[in-house]
Amino acid sequence: MRRPLVAGNAKMHLDRASLHALLGDIRSALEREPARADVAYCPPYTLLDAAHAVLDGSSVALGAQDVHWQTSGAFTGEVSAPMLAEAGCRYVIVGHSERRHQLGETDLMIGAKARAAVGAGLIPIFCIGETEAERDSGQTNVVLAGQIGRALAGAGSIFTADRLVVAYEPVWAIGTGRSATVSQVGEAHAWVRAEVGLALGKETADAVRILYGGSVKPENAAELLACPGVDGALVGGASLESKSFLGIVRATPVR
Ligand code: PEP
Repeated sequence: MRRPLVAGNAKMHLDRASLHALLGDIRSALEREPARADVAYCPPYTLLDAAHAVLDGSSVALGAQDVHWQTSGAFTGEVSAPMLAEAGCRYVIVGHSERRHQLGETDLMIGAKARAAVGAGLIPIFCIGETEAERDSGQTNVVLAGQIGRALAGAGSIFTADRLVVAYEPVWAIGTGRSATVSQVGEAHAWVRAEVGLALGKETADAVRILYGGSVKPENAAELLACPGVDGALVGGASLESKSFLGIVRATPVR
């Protein structure tokens, strides 16, 4: 049985006071009404310590939004996986489409980041997804297969089902208010699980959590999270307010 995960990605938003209030609200709500999903929150690097102070000892796990693939060295501006582990992180997002498309991250870099995360005891949330042009030209499955194969294949037994989360995030649905339809999500998740099976073996693919991300909000969360093969959500915009984030957590179906 795959336990769903709902993870918030604050991106480059929130200041210290608003993060403190947001996470305090989420923590206390989930103390009153334990969630049917695992819950994680990924603030900007500069607020990891502040977030850790609020979340420590709670059921809400801390995550980061990116990581470097080396453990230390002359990499100005970068943060390593051991540093994130020391800051209290359990998860780290790798391969977010904003980093792929705005900063030129490649599948090989993303695979190395995911391996570094696992090496430091973190769980990478490995993001993949097609652009609108790729979907319109019928390339979705090829794109997803390439992203998975190039980043994950050949990593031996590093990526077990409890040491990896995959997030299918169609680029055209991120931050646009236009989420994928239930049938698009169901089809893509089935394909992604099969491709993870080719890269890592069927046993891992059957047990690994595959999240959907792209304009998830309380109004559409129940329908999207109930899709076959969807094991939770990666949430951007709607994670910036406790009411909407908790609305998504509460919409997780009973499994
Ligand atoms: C994201 O940034 O991963 C994301 C899914 O954003 P949004 O929920 O705003 O579409």
